[in-house]
Amino acid sequence: MNSDRELIRWSPRVSQQKIRKLYEQDAKGIVDDELIDDIAFSFFMRCQDIITVTDASLGKVKCIKCENIIHHNWNKDEVLSCNKCSWETTWGTYLKSYQKKQLHGGGALGAFKNFVAKLPKARTPEDKMILIDRLIHEAHQWTGPNFEEPVFTRPVAVNIISGKLKDVKVFLDQLSRGPERKETYNEWTKKISTWDKYVEERKKKVS
Ligand SMILES: [Zn+2]
Repeated sequence: MNSDRELIRWSPRVSQQKIRKLYEQDAKGIVDDELIDDIAFSFFMRCQDIITVTDASLGKVKCIKCENIIHHNWNKDEVLSCNKCSWETTWGTYLKSYQKKQLHGGGALGAFKNFVAKLPKARTPEDKMILIDRLIHEAHQWTGPNFEEPVFTRPVAVNIISGKLKDVKVFLDQLSRGPERKETYNEWTKKISTWDKYVEERKKKVS
């Protein structure tokens, strides 16, 4: 049986350095087509992998060779074998291949799906830049309890840009932005602050 987990590869996150360069140029009014395409494509691949991993965590693994869907029952020893080609692995091996890599779509799956659906239709560098800008300023929505207002837990940026959660938040705060990019950032700041507010309110209720 071929259960070599080295065979299961995922697209990496994009470096902070690249994103910083993109925003610095954008703020100066410089349109770097190549860099925009490079980042947009990397995000596209990453988002596709996030969708694949999220589906897998819900019971549907996509064969890495032929994309056939294999259903499983979350048993680590369970053998996943594709009935359309020769690929085989165990759920445990597959699970290990994506854990701790910020590859689960969680409460932001819609944002990743939206990017994958819209990027191929984006024609101009500005169209692509808008999609990139929106994606990195999305946040995971928590759908747990019943709140009057939605609560957002973590930035999507941590799924697609390298670095730890704390670092990525600081990184986004410090990005150079032209006037036309400020609104998405302001909206993001509001979203992210809902979590702190929620924690504060909980503390008040408990005490
Ligand atoms: Zn297959």
